[in-house]
Amino acid sequence: MTPLTVAIIGRPNVGKSTLFNRLAGRRLAIVHDQPGVTRDRRFADGRLGDMALRLVDTAGLEEAPADALETRMRHQTERAMAEADVVLMLIDARTGVTPMDAHFAQVLRESPTPVVLVANKCEGGAGEAGLYESYGLGLGDPVPLSAEHGEGLALLYEALLPHEAALHERQAAAGEAGAPDGADAAGAEALPPDLEARAMAGAEDDAEPEPDDPGRPLNLAIVGRPNTGKSTLVNRLIGDDRLLTGPEAGVTRDSITVDWTHRGRPVRLVDTAGLRRKGRVTDSLEKLSVADTLNAIRLAEVVVLMMDADMVMDRQDLTIARMVVEEGRALVLAVNKWDAAADREATLRRVRDRLETSLAQVRGLPFVTVSALQGRNLDRLMDTVFEMHARWNVRVSTGRLNRWLAGMTGEHPPPMGKHGKRIRLRYMTQAKARPPTFAVFCSRPEDLPDSYVRYLVNGLREAFGFDGVPVRLFLRKSE
Ligand code: GDP
Ligand code: GDP
Repeated sequence: MTPLTVAIIGRPNVGKSTLFNRLAGRRLAIVHDQPGVTRDRRFADGRLGDMALRLVDTAGLEEAPADALETRMRHQTERAMAEADVVLMLIDARTGVTPMDAHFAQVLRESPTPVVLVANKCEGGAGEAGLYESYGLGLGDPVPLSAEHGEGLALLYEALLPHEAALHERQAAAGEAGAPDGADAAGAEALPPDLEARAMAGAEDDAEPEPDDPGRPLNLAIVGRPNTGKSTLVNRLIGDDRLLTGPEAGVTRDSITVDWTHRGRPVRLVDTAGLRRKGRVTDSLEKLSVADTLNAIRLAEVVVLMMDADMVMDRQDLTIARMVVEEGRALVLAVNKWDAAADREATLRRVRDRLETSLAQVRGLPFVTVSALQGRNLDRLMDTVFEMHARWNVRVSTGRLNRWLAGMTGEHPPPMGKHGKRIRLRYMTQAKARPPTFAVFCSRPEDLPDSYVRYLVNGLREAFGFDGVPVRLFLRKSE
């Protein structure tokens, strides 16, 4: 197969060389001059799964001394357009979209060369904000990737497939044979595990949480309406009265954290500043601060929503619960003041009922009855927090996912699309964890009904233990 010529471009430091080296593979990383072309045009052979690549080394261009950055960018882009079948435009998802990225994007939007947008440095679910921000560049869906850690290569492969197909079509039209050359396969990037599994031959492995760094604390936020007992809970958990010891006029920092351990595992309570501010307010009509709550949720991995047993799951509680789910965090409901609850049976009925009717999008949300005041059931609350954290971190291998998908579509085939052809779900992969996010490649994503997507999401929950975890599923077009 004639290789697909790919140019990797982007502003300095986004990870172009790292991606170049990964795709080129260690043994083929030696960049060689192409005979008969000027010295600054350099190529390397590469491979991604079964796809042969020819990489245009634009990184070398940056070594050109004394050029203004603008000039180098223009050269880079022009060369990419001239040489490549497809351009990989890299951004650093951790930094987010910069003006220079936007400038590159604008030039590329005007170029006839197709572009695949790559959000790099997304390992372990990092860079989410930058990933979503990059949709705004107008270059289509970004591919989340970590060049350094080799994550997301299966998605990159999928994104390049249509361009490879177009190349082969062009060649067929031009009457080229496209001589097979399997001779250089040896040194290329080893087949990523995701792609291996694509052939449905993946090893039998289970859904597994990412190995957690034992030294890394679990980031926890405690949110809820005023007076539900948040400060009381925090004081109980950390075992002293640090949080509410009188007015602290001097405190101006916006975010304060408190560290402690639960059964020997480190926990970090984030955004205690919000709690502290509330603690100082004595007005019983004090309103819920949405901004404080959102801030706390965004800093956290797991969120405990404190509720008062006698007013459980009211409108504001539901609003907060939905915010947590929408932000993709793991949620644990705490029904507090259990010691003083007027009617425990009625409270439990109400919790279960509301979970079913008003929070149906995350089936299986856990709730724990506690008494912060008396310190009751707090171990169980924290055990649940760790359990949800583990589920939220789960990664499912592509082989297992696709066997599952085949079962689901076999049992319950997708309906006909608008044009009378059956919608086909070809392949799926987990794009990231924290929260578990899946991409399903589909012949007609626009025609697939929401009810079918819910069928898949609920099925994922059951099959891989995502009960109570926000699960995201993206549909992507694939011919
Ligand atoms: P270039 O200037 O665009 O060629 O960028 P480099 O490939 O030299 O990378 C710039 C920096 O980003 C280096 O410190 C890399 O180690 C780092 N880097 C590259 N890819 C990743 C990634 O996927 N994740 C993280 N965290 N860092 C990366
Ligand atoms: P916050 O506004 O959410 O931080 O709530 P506080 O921690 O300040 O608690 C509000 C009131 O509820 C205080 O009078 C607490 O003593 C009381 N409270 C908190 N937890 C419990 C509990 O488990 N049982 C009972 N009976 N009262 C509680």
